[in-house]
Amino acid sequence: MPDPLAALRDRLAEVSDLQRAAAVLEWDQETYMPPGAAEARAHQVATLRRLAHERFTDEAVGAWLDRAEADTEADEALLRVTRRDYARATLLPSGWVAAFATAKGHAMEAWKKARETAPPGSRPGQAFAHFAPHLQRILDLSVEKAERTMPLLQDERGADYAPGDDARYDALLDEYEPGATTAQVAAVFADLRAELVPLVEAIAARPQLDDAVVHGPFPEDAQWAFGLEVAQAFGYDLRHGRQDRSAHPFTTTFATTDVRITTRLDPDFFPTAFYGTLHEAGHALYEQGVDPAYDRTPLADGTSLGMHESQSRLWENQVGRSRAFWRYWFADAQARFPEALANADAEAMYRAVNRVAPSLIRVEADELTYHLHVLLRFEIERALVAGDLAVADVPAAWNEKMAAYLGLTPPSDADGCLQDIHWSLGALGYFPTYTLGTLISAQLAEAAARDLGRLDALFERGAFRPLLDWLRAHVHRWGRAKSAAEILDAVTGGGLDAAPWLAYARAKYGALYGL
Ligand code: ZN
Repeated sequence: MPDPLAALRDRLAEVSDLQRAAAVLEWDQETYMPPGAAEARAHQVATLRRLAHERFTDEAVGAWLDRAEADTEADEALLRVTRRDYARATLLPSGWVAAFATAKGHAMEAWKKARETAPPGSRPGQAFAHFAPHLQRILDLSVEKAERTMPLLQDERGADYAPGDDARYDALLDEYEPGATTAQVAAVFADLRAELVPLVEAIAARPQLDDAVVHGPFPEDAQWAFGLEVAQAFGYDLRHGRQDRSAHPFTTTFATTDVRITTRLDPDFFPTAFYGTLHEAGHALYEQGVDPAYDRTPLADGTSLGMHESQSRLWENQVGRSRAFWRYWFADAQARFPEALANADAEAMYRAVNRVAPSLIRVEADELTYHLHVLLRFEIERALVAGDLAVADVPAAWNEKMAAYLGLTPPSDADGCLQDIHWSLGALGYFPTYTLGTLISAQLAEAAARDLGRLDALFERGAFRPLLDWLRAHVHRWGRAKSAAEILDAVTGGGLDAAPWLAYARAKYGALYGL
């Protein structure tokens, strides 16, 4: 009889190949594919994903998992992670999987159409009404998913785990942030809200920072080259990566030896492409740094979306929006953009890229108000999933919270409750990971500074490698072999904590705005 662990590894490698091949097709779809090929491509991707799902949820995999024994710590991690993935995947019947895929396809089309029919000045809820039945379908199927996967959480977390009304949202959140609970996320947001709302108000009462320097002209070729130069200085390895253009920036991994990023260019506004590149490069550094021995196994991935986002935010914000960063890079930027930056200096650049102003669109928000956008989405999703908010009432709830947290009213649903793609993708429970990642990024930066000394002193002389090496050792190389909680505990001696990020935010923006 063949060794069950060897048989399992062979099967996991095959499943990984199918999934990664689908990812190549999806990357092409977002970058180079002619638009007329959309339908053919959708079939190709669906076939590969279905085959991967069938090969993984095969009963033979369950039998190998039952009989396999670990010889090494790496085997142990592989079996632990795979058993959990298998349990989760087999709790969802193939009928549900097919229904969810179909619902997502329809929701995506309806979402795009609804956005087009939402011109500024249209009544709130008017355009959303076209999308509402699809969101209802996604919500119903998500509730079904949550109820089917809830027993897994109860088993793992034991008798003390009593989530009450949040049992379903916990189950959805767990897919993206294993181990996190709705109650924990709510407590974190309560801390953030208590500090951020008054901080943003105090900033609004101060003279605004001048950001004229980042408003064009920035020739696209020079933007492209400069972004990649900085990404490479961070350690992004172009022998194992590349950058392309897409409508929405993303990072995708085909192997630890092939991790790609995309960005978009705006010739009149510097931060769009530059911080897009740094953000995605942060994600890519994580994926390039996973132990290559994990390739073609479920361990070759980020351990949670929060941990993943901590890497992108760390490089984008803690590094790329620091004064020390601009002291080092400004001369280079000025040489590349002589027209826009002729009369500027590093300090002007630092101030311009850190301007705080409430805005309608999450992906364009500054470092502080960003979390109020996420809070609003978390509260709406939590209420939807618990059955406390009807889908039809989403636009009103959205606009009410926008007014309360940011003092703004969306001129249309397209700039309000229809702005994000996540619900069309069936990704309820995803949004909180953006904020968790930001908090983790500050915890990691603090821990790294304890080992490396002041990070600013390193950045100011262009030394980015020590931080990367530290992240490689403590975060990246583990892939999914360690959970986010284990990584945090190992480097901070504790769990998720909002205090380091709040201290960072108060110090940085207090000084910038003279509070
Ligand atoms: Zn990200």
